[in-house]
Amino acid sequence: MNNFEQLGLSPKLLNAILDLGFENPSEVQQQAIPILLENETDLVALAQTGTGKTAAFGFPIIQKIDTESKQTQALILSPTRELCLQITNELQLYGKYEKSLNVVAVYGGASITEQERQIKRGAQIIVATPGRMKDMLGRKMINISEIKYCVLDEADEMLNMGFYEDITDILSHSNKNKKTWLFSATMPKEVASIAKEFMKKPIEITVGSKNEGSKNVVHEYYTVNGRDRYNALKRLADAHPDIFSVIFCRTKRDTQKVAEKLIEDGYNASALHGDLSQNQRDLVMKSFRTRQIQMLVATDVAARGIDVDDITHVINYQLPDEVETYTHRSGRTGRAGKHGISMVIITKSEQRKIKQIEKIINKSFTQKEIPSGEEICQVQLLHLAKSIKNTEVNHDIDQYLPQIENMLEDFDKEELIKKLFSVEFTRFHNYYKGANKIESSSHSGDYSDDSGSTRFFINVGSKDGFSWMSLKDLLKAELDLGRDAVNKVDVKASFSFFNVDESQTDKVLKVFEDYEYQGRQVNVEVTKGKTGGGSRKRRDRKKGGRKSNESFKTKSNAKRRDSNKGKSSRKANIKSSINRRKKKK
Ligand code: ADP
Ligand code: MG
Repeated sequence: MNNFEQLGLSPKLLNAILDLGFENPSEVQQQAIPILLENETDLVALAQTGTGKTAAFGFPIIQKIDTESKQTQALILSPTRELCLQITNELQLYGKYEKSLNVVAVYGGASITEQERQIKRGAQIIVATPGRMKDMLGRKMINISEIKYCVLDEADEMLNMGFYEDITDILSHSNKNKKTWLFSATMPKEVASIAKEFMKKPIEITVGSKNEGSKNVVHEYYTVNGRDRYNALKRLADAHPDIFSVIFCRTKRDTQKVAEKLIEDGYNASALHGDLSQNQRDLVMKSFRTRQIQMLVATDVAARGIDVDDITHVINYQLPDEVETYTHRSGRTGRAGKHGISMVIITKSEQRKIKQIEKIINKSFTQKEIPSGEEICQVQLLHLAKSIKNTEVNHDIDQYLPQIENMLEDFDKEELIKKLFSVEFTRFHNYYKGANKIESSSHSGDYSDDSGSTRFFINVGSKDGFSWMSLKDLLKAELDLGRDAVNKVDVKASFSFFNVDESQTDKVLKVFEDYEYQGRQVNVEVTKGKTGGGSRKRRDRKKGGRKSNESFKTKSNAKRRDSNKGKSSRKANIKSSINRRKKKK
């Protein structure tokens, strides 16, 4: 059986399925739909995220309820507001040819009286989060005493989130004869016990083996030193220019920190965690869906609602505390038949966890190396060539062409290509030129680590109109040291601090030796004390590994001499670095 018609679905549903563009039922749909249509039974269905579980219960429910009656006949419980809205939306699409069907979403953070009003109009199906549902039952705003079907969707997630008592409470308001359908990606013992407690001889179906990861996801791990974690993440992103990813951190704090660093480094990133207001979270999710955000850094809890197809990579910046959580993380990619990659950044001491996860997901990981600077440069260059090739010409520029042609007439094609690529590419090239390889035994400088970097004082601050971002832009432009050279910029009212690799200490001092900003003498000094004053010993040890930076230094010095000629070119430099940050989509 590989066709929806053979599952016993009604013509109205088949028409809706045609409109949706679903060609063949997924495995869980093939198994669950005929059982649910032909029997009045409890059901436990285990299948990975992204395998089409919503339709597996949604089609049968719509077919089985009486749309002529206004009675509430089915309740679907789901863990988050996001999912609740998604399921409601999907069900409305499935039921588009059922004229009198009314599906209502019930969730927190929105007007309860409005939801009550919608239900009073007659909702045959209610899709709810447990918290709000319990609340409304308590206030007698909803009556579920006559429901025929109750779906516990993403049961493992609901239990993870501590909804056990709410669910028990909710079910006590329903009648004993209803049928319960439980859908879950994994089967921890809590789910098994809820099945035992609330269900009668459920039919069990399992797609893939229990707790198994999606077939479409490959798993990779990268072993690095703890302090290289962030740089490793950046390299993974740089090596995949089209990345559209969720990056998992363990805590809200790390989530926020990593997102901020990525933004600071010019990536389209954003954080998603529980300290954001619902409104902020909605905005972040909207930007992610529309791909304005390429890298969404999230906690496990906050990522629960994420149901975006097309995610290319899941990156485990840190492994979860509980290995089972890995299944959920990696299930965010490889959805709806697409391929996905789940990457794990670990330290040597965590390697044994990989074995544990392999057992759970029943798949092996590939150990891979963090791409080298050279590899990344090559990828970026080819990516640029590809996007130039695929770019549609914008004819609004036609009117300026004569002028442009005039300006560039002395260059032949080869020279033009070289120049064009240099405009976009130099940023990566400079950044990776002197960079060390990242591997578990390397000692390349991570910027969360202070060894080998010098902290400077500068006598400008927020009173002079600087934020950390604008000061960093100014410093980067002035020092011309590449993408990550300036960091830990800390802006106070009338002065600020920043870090630069200690090998560049003299250069920094030289650049600011005789420097004015808005008519004021700018003073830059090495701070004494806590961070990286640069002991002689450490500097010597560092030297070897940084050799390749030396040639880079002379080159950039030469460039500086040109741009030192006038303040205007300096400004242009700053501006273009700001533009570049904005432009990178
Ligand atoms: P799950 O609940 O198992 O995580 P969903 O029900 O959210 O998965 O489905 C994931 C995606 O797959 C959705 O975008 C959905 O529209 C799509 N989908 C579901 N069934 C099919 C099908 N038979 N053919 C193609 N796409 C499908
Ligand atoms: Mg689902």
